[in-house]
Amino acid sequence: VVNIEHPTVNLPTLSKDQVSIKMRGNICMVSDFKLLEKVQNDGVGLYRTEFMFMMHENFPVENEQYRIFRQVAKLGEPNSVVIRALDIGGDKPLSYFDHGTETDPMLGYRSIRILLEHPEVFIPHLRAMLRAAQRGNMKILFPMIAHYEDVVALKKVIKEQVAELRKIYGRKFKIPPLGAMIEMPSAVCQLNELLDYFDFVSIGTNDLVQYFFAVDRGNKKVSNYFCPMHPLILRVLKKIIDSCTERNKPVSICGEIASNPLATPILIGIGLIDFSMTPMQLSKIKHLTSQLDSKKCSKLARKALQCSTQQEVIDLVEAFYKKEK
Ligand code: PEP
Ligand code: MG
Repeated sequence: VVNIEHPTVNLPTLSKDQVSIKMRGNICMVSDFKLLEKVQNDGVGLYRTEFMFMMHENFPVENEQYRIFRQVAKLGEPNSVVIRALDIGGDKPLSYFDHGTETDPMLGYRSIRILLEHPEVFIPHLRAMLRAAQRGNMKILFPMIAHYEDVVALKKVIKEQVAELRKIYGRKFKIPPLGAMIEMPSAVCQLNELLDYFDFVSIGTNDLVQYFFAVDRGNKKVSNYFCPMHPLILRVLKKIIDSCTERNKPVSICGEIASNPLATPILIGIGLIDFSMTPMQLSKIKHLTSQLDSKKCSKLARKALQCSTQQEVIDLVEAFYKKEK
């Protein structure tokens, strides 16, 4: 049990050997800032906007969305807030949107796929995000990017809307940093092209694991296939982090693995310096990180990448913690 009164939770996070590591929060609504305030943090790494939509009875108009997003950006100041475009469908249906009936909702009509086909939903949403980002600390993240075709379609809408907004607000209206969630194997394969357009990426391990192993993330019957710490996943995560580092593009992990203490030394060991997680786990992971030596973590990660099973990885980490105690 970690003592949350420990002084490390009130300071920026440094590993034992002084590597600076960003620790950010995943939030769903304005009230989550109350949890985030309890512990030193580097801002919001993921603001899941779908919960705000779920609390309404119909799609809120552009100005109403802008008002809420602006409030979130303000509460996050001076740190940045990564706002994610509406990620509905799959495990997060919206009561007032007709999702139709689908055999495989997780493989179906969801997220950016809905937005790109529904300008009446996407345009006010995008404009509200772009406007809320004008004061400087908001970045926009797009979920479920499958391939470059998604990027082309997205680019077109963004370009058109920025041109429209410049007509209203003048030439000073700027395009904020734009990011892609890397949460499909296809996006991993096309990462280099995606990085030509996006300013940053965030790895959604929850969906990445789901699509990598073809395992519904919510289906208990197959949960033994949902292996976020599998060496195959760790190799993919390293590949993404290496490519982004090479291209000088910020990369964070906002999936559940970022809040798992068993994964912390391995993630640091493969070069992750930007974590985003539920605010509830922040103090624990920050404290743990302050006790880890990044060089020892690299050594551990090298061994983990060579493993054949998730259990071998878990055994390795447990032995590492016992030795470090
Ligand atoms: C993910 O897929 O890992 C993620 C962070 O997004 P969500 O859990 O909201 O799908
Ligand atoms: Mg996801």
